[in-house]
Amino acid sequence: MQIVSTRELCAWLDSTLHTASFNDYCPNGLQVEGKPQVSHIIAGVTASEALIDAAIERGADTLLVHHGWFWKGEDPRVRGTRKTRLAKLLAHDINLLAYHLPLDAHPVLGNNAQLARVLGLSPERQRQPDTVAIENNPPLTTGPNNLIWLGDMPGTSTLAQVAQQTEHRLARTPLVIGDPDMPIQRIGWCTGAAHSMLKDAIDAGVECFITGEISEPVVHLARESGVAFISAGHHATERYGVQALGNEIARIFNIRVDFVDIDNPV
Ligand SMILES: [Zn+2]
Repeated sequence: MQIVSTRELCAWLDSTLHTASFNDYCPNGLQVEGKPQVSHIIAGVTASEALIDAAIERGADTLLVHHGWFWKGEDPRVRGTRKTRLAKLLAHDINLLAYHLPLDAHPVLGNNAQLARVLGLSPERQRQPDTVAIENNPPLTTGPNNLIWLGDMPGTSTLAQVAQQTEHRLARTPLVIGDPDMPIQRIGWCTGAAHSMLKDAIDAGVECFITGEISEPVVHLARESGVAFISAGHHATERYGVQALGNEIARIFNIRVDFVDIDNPV
């Protein structure tokens, strides 16, 4: 079995995901240090106790997640469920690697790029597609940290069709605000809990905004602005970036990476 040093893997991740250029709500990178060598990674959306148990059961040495620990404003004390999680990781010498906004934003491996692939969304690009190869043609983005992608869903023309394709591709029924018959051309999307970015999407001129979560005021903003809103699931929209990143790590370093999906209804 191939191995890579934890240090080398972290350096590759930090440079690939441009970690230093984000001002995030949590530390990105190696959050908890375990073994100095990595040969088997468990990738998942959230560093929950269930994911840690899966890593221990499978004898993995590293966890790779989108939602790690140590969020700004959190009670930092090591008590209760936090103690349990940390004790399990430390007892088994497991590395915890977490990438939040850098993994949302990456133009190929990121959650927004991968959600577009899964949903069949076609991102608008900064340059004419026929003048430059797609890998050198960044997506057109807007909103905080440029986390909203813009584009359309070829083959659909109404909200009902966009919602139906979203439901089918994610295997999860979304919550949809808007007239099913309303015509939809331009769509904005941001994975996870980006419902507060609806106003930024409206300013960007979309007819529909897709994200993972919803809140009470967002329903009124959607109704009153006439912009459709699709809440497709925080977990459901963020399953794909960490898988793409895991596949890339497996390809480059020739180590084992298994994605473990811990189901979450939100
Ligand atoms: Zn998230």
